[in-house]
Amino acid sequence: TQEIQLAARPVGRPVPADFRLASSELPELQAGQVLIRNLFLSVDPYMRGRMNDAKSYAAPYELNEAMEGGAVGEIIASRSDDRKVGDVVVHSLGWREYAVLDSAATAPARTDLAPAPAFLGALGMTGLTAFAGLLKVANLQPGEVVFVSGAAGAVGSLVGQIAKAMGASRVIGSAGSAEKVARLLELGFDNAFNYNDGPVAEQLAAAAGERGIDVYFDNVGGEHLEAALSALTVGGRVAMCGAISKYNATEPTPAPRNLMMAVGKQLTLKGFLVGSYWQHMGEFAEAMAGWLADGTVRYDETIVDGLENAPQAFMDLLDGANTGKMLVRL
Ligand code: NDP
Repeated sequence: TQEIQLAARPVGRPVPADFRLASSELPELQAGQVLIRNLFLSVDPYMRGRMNDAKSYAAPYELNEAMEGGAVGEIIASRSDDRKVGDVVVHSLGWREYAVLDSAATAPARTDLAPAPAFLGALGMTGLTAFAGLLKVANLQPGEVVFVSGAAGAVGSLVGQIAKAMGASRVIGSAGSAEKVARLLELGFDNAFNYNDGPVAEQLAAAAGERGIDVYFDNVGGEHLEAALSALTVGGRVAMCGAISKYNATEPTPAPRNLMMAVGKQLTLKGFLVGSYWQHMGEFAEAMAGWLADGTVRYDETIVDGLENAPQAFMDLLDGANTGKMLVRL
């Protein structure tokens, strides 16, 4: 069976030589285990952090071993009473063709609700991140104005649409190209701008106007966070989800220069990890299934074919080649 290993720890931007396509033997199936043929693999920004040899919330990947990551696949052999051949499940042994793991480490994908890859995106970890960050972390209230960065990405595009569904009065998004900006307007964002067109602070101030913003969902950090701190109203909240503008940094980067505004405006800046909000999965899945069924929420996928192209898909994700969720199809 084939797998993608981490061949070297990237310094700054990852390069192809940091990854290796390798063959390995599948372990024999033990009692309680299932053999899965992976159908779709997820590539995610957080994986960049796991490629460093640094203590973080997720353990570093081992060199010269298959990486891990979200995947959805079909069970082709089972020694478990809980899962049968043909079941489609979500699990964490991505970056490889076949996976052997305990059935308890797999979650059934409700393919009656949506196609299998949706369980790595809108109906999976990505969707829960958007839902929990907006509603449980930032505590969005009807009538409020929301700004989300990385808005054309997997999490961001859902944040904007969930905000509208939950009664936000206006949703503003930023993304890295004119095509992405156009897509955000199609998805129902009230306002969107390309952060490459000029300073984020100026573009956000123009979009937010006198009213300002109540909630900032931060996927990007840096200049975006600084701009949002300036645009937030008194009592505003920031859901700190990620800081992708910093993931390839080789030196510590300056904090937002205006952090002191958090005092005067009595802001709440709250970081969160989706893993701590898993208890909301049921509530989220029910709401999202309804929104998908009635067209309130739509999702995009950028699909790359072939395990051997997974490293490039990951590198392209960091460079913004995706609209919506970046996936690898096997
Ligand atoms: P995306 O689908 O949003 O893909 C990443 C996007 O980031 C790219 O498409 C690119 O879009 C944008 N980007 C890359 N570099 C920059 C930059 N320098 N400035 C601004 N934008 C940039 O990925 P996800 O939706 O999976 O993840 C979005 C964020 O959410 C990430 O920060 C991720 O780490 C975080 N996250 C956090 C979780 C948590 O539990 N806290 C869980 C899941 C995700 P563009 O063309 O617009 O630049």
